[in-house]
Amino acid sequence: MLIVQKFGGTSVADPERIRNAARLLVEAAQEGNQVVAVVSAQGDLTDRLLEKIDSITDHPSLRETDACVSAGENISAALVAMAVEAMGQSAISLSGWQAGLITDRTHGNARIRFLQGGRIRRELQAGKIVVVAGFQGVDSEKDITTLGRGGSDTTAVALAALLEADRCVIFTDVDGVYDKDPRKFPDAVKYEAVDYGQMLELCSRGAQVLHDRCVELARDHGIRIEVRSAFRDVPGTVV
Ligand code: ASP
Ligand code: MG
Repeated sequence: MLIVQKFGGTSVADPERIRNAARLLVEAAQEGNQVVAVVSAQGDLTDRLLEKIDSITDHPSLRETDACVSAGENISAALVAMAVEAMGQSAISLSGWQAGLITDRTHGNARIRFLQGGRIRRELQAGKIVVVAGFQGVDSEKDITTLGRGGSDTTAVALAALLEADRCVIFTDVDGVYDKDPRKFPDAVKYEAVDYGQMLELCSRGAQVLHDRCVELARDHGIRIEVRSAFRDVPGTVV
């Protein structure tokens, strides 16, 4: 099977969590699967990069903003690949452009147009876990673009669709999709499964567990998304 596993910012926030993500990737590979990882920037690094930009200018160009903030995901991808290799399994990190994710030219809110997937497929064939930097792509001018806040989810679903993956698992800091934010409301109720319409409704009410565009993309390509905890091995929610 070809499996896409996505790890959000909290799931790669520190060395221990990076090793935890690497362990989940290595386990999936040892079960005989081809594994593509998609990673977000560590913790609140994206916010901190935006603050750095703010400290330089009130009118940053969107192009340079994308060049700056996309760095967060590149760091995570390299660190996760190193952690996988430290466990004795070969891996390679790829930035959005190396992975062949081609977008339109809308800096800060780009849409993925297509995938030149040759590189990812070659690395998978060579037996590597391929760790792709989420949230970013490259436009027709080879300028780096980003997909909007929370966009690593969209990278994961797009890769699952375009590589025709068998599974797409989104590992996060909550253990599934709830009717309200379980980090704020102790009486929140977890769904075993939601359909795309319900999930989009939850997104529009402010649920941050999945990027709304990733849900639309999943609906349009018929991708089943499994939302699970990166830290607790309990059943999550299927979208
Ligand atoms: N790091 C980006 C953000 O904070 C993308 C993501 O996490 O999905 O919005
Ligand atoms: Mg997110």
